[in-house]
Amino acid sequence: MTTITQVKTYLNYINGEWVSSLGKKVDISINPANKNEIVGYIQSSSGEDVDRAVEAAKRAQKEWRRLSGAERGDYLYKIANSLERRLDEIAETMTMEMGKTFSEAKGETMRGVAILRYYAGEGMRKAGDVIPASDSQALMFTKRVPLGVIGVISPWNFPVAIPIWKMAPALIYGNTVVIKPAQETSVTAAKVIECMDEAGIPDGVVNMVTGAGSVVGAAMVNHTDVNGITFTGSNATGKQIGQAALARGAKYQLEMGGKNPVIIAADADLDLAVEGTISGGFRSTGQKCTATSRVFVHTEVYDLFKEKLLQKVKEIKIGNGMEDTSWMGPCASENQLNTVLSYIEKGKAEGARLIYGGERHTGNGCENGFYVQPTVFEDVTNGMVIAQEEIFGPVLALIKVDTIEEALAQANDIEFGLSASIYTKDIGAMMSFIIDIDAGLVRINAETAGVELQAPFGGMKQSSSHSREQGQAAIEFFTAIKTVFVKA
Ligand code: NAD
Repeated sequence: MTTITQVKTYLNYINGEWVSSLGKKVDISINPANKNEIVGYIQSSSGEDVDRAVEAAKRAQKEWRRLSGAERGDYLYKIANSLERRLDEIAETMTMEMGKTFSEAKGETMRGVAILRYYAGEGMRKAGDVIPASDSQALMFTKRVPLGVIGVISPWNFPVAIPIWKMAPALIYGNTVVIKPAQETSVTAAKVIECMDEAGIPDGVVNMVTGAGSVVGAAMVNHTDVNGITFTGSNATGKQIGQAALARGAKYQLEMGGKNPVIIAADADLDLAVEGTISGGFRSTGQKCTATSRVFVHTEVYDLFKEKLLQKVKEIKIGNGMEDTSWMGPCASENQLNTVLSYIEKGKAEGARLIYGGERHTGNGCENGFYVQPTVFEDVTNGMVIAQEEIFGPVLALIKVDTIEEALAQANDIEFGLSASIYTKDIGAMMSFIIDIDAGLVRINAETAGVELQAPFGGMKQSSSHSREQGQAAIEFFTAIKTVFVKA
C-alpha cells in the first residue's frame, strides 16, 4: 500500500495541460478522519477558468466525434488499465478524502474500471435503427449523434464511480467533457483525470475545473457552449440547475436524493433482513443516495427483528477507514456531521424514541474526526421530519406496520422514489411490491443499496429528472437522434 507523505497542490486540467486557476486561489481538502490532516490543495477556480475549459472542449469535439466508436473505446480501455494499476493509491486517496473504508473505496474504484470497460465495448454496438419508410424505394434510419460539450457536476459520496459513470458514456458517444467534481473530493477526481492523461486522451477531450459549486458549477450550467449538463447531488441544487438549463434550452439530467424504505414482512428471513438493513443503512456511514433510511416492520416480528438488529448494530466498529478493523468511517465533512446531529435532535424533539447511538463518536483516536454513532430510532411516525427528509447519515427509523398494504402506502407517502426493498418469502407480497412501490430501483430480499453498472439507474418523483444513467440507458441522455431519409 502506498502512503501519501507530502501535501501536494492539484491543478485544473484544461486542453491537456495541468494549470493553476487564473486567480491563483486554492482550497484545502482535509481528511474527515482527522481534520488536522490536509490531503491536498486544490484550485479554487472562477467562471473564466470554466470559459477556457469549455472553449477547449468545444474545439476538441470536432475531431473526437469523427473517430470511430472503436477508436474512442481504445482510449477508455487504456484509462481503465491505468485506473486498475493505481487501484490502491486512488482508493487510499478516496478514504483519506471522504472517509469510507479502504475496502469500500477499492470496490468503488474497481467499479470505475468495470464501467470504463463496459462503455469501451459500447463503441462497437449499434447507434441507430432502420425504420420502414412510406416510400418502398427509400431507406429511413435513425443515427445517434453526440450532444457536443457535456458539463459533469458530481457529488462527494462516490468520488470515482459517479464521475466515471457520467464521463465514460459521454465520451464513447462522441461528446467532450468539462467536469466539476465536489470540492470535498477533488484530489481523488484529479487522480482519475491523471489516468485519462496517462492514457493519452487527446487534448481538450476531458477537462477538469475544481472549485465552489455556486461559482464553477453555476458558470458551467449557464455557459451557452455547454450542450448538456449531467448532475448528481442534492435536490436543492438539482432544482436550480434544472431551471437554469431549461431557461437556455440545454439538455439536463438530474440524479438526486432518496429516503429509501425497506419492508420487513412477517414471513421474512430475519437474519437476512437484519444484515441487509445494517449494510444498507450504515455502510459508507449512510452516505449513499440508495441508503436504507425507513424500516417498516410487521408487528408480528417487530420485537425479534429489533432485538437482532440492535445486537448487530452494537458490533459495528467505528474508526479510520484505513484501519482494517474499521467497519464504518466518519461522515465526509464537518458540515455533514452537523447535519446528521441536528436531524437526531429533531427526531428526539418530535417524540421518536432513540434506542441506539445518537451521539458524536470521539473515543479511540477519533477525537479529531467527524464520527457519529450508528443511530436507531423507534416509535417513528411517517409524518416526522426524520421520516421524510434525507439525512444522509447512519440513522435508521423503525416504523411498526400491521400489513404489507399499510407499509406500501407509508413507503410511498413521500416526495422521493429512488430505491426500495422488501424481505419476504411470499410471491404475492413481492408482486404487490414490484407493482406498487414508487422507486426506480426495486429490490427483493436484498438491501436498498446495490447498483449494477450494466442496468439503468435513477429515481422516480423528486429523486430524478426522470432520466436514467448507466447501462444501455445512458445513450438516451448523451446522444440526440437524427432521423435520416435517403432516396437514391
Ligand atoms: P450538492 O448538491 O451539495 O453538490 C453536488 C455538486 O453540485 C457538487 O459538485 C457541488 O459543488 C455542486 N454545486 C453546488 N451548488 C451548485 C450550483 N449552484 N450550481 C452548480 N453546481 C453546484 O450534493 P452533495 O452534498 O455533494 O451530495 C449529496 C447528495 O447527492 C445527496 O442528496 C444524495 O442523495 C445525492 N446523490 C444522489 C445520487 C443519485 O444517483 N441519485 C448518487 C449520489 C448522491
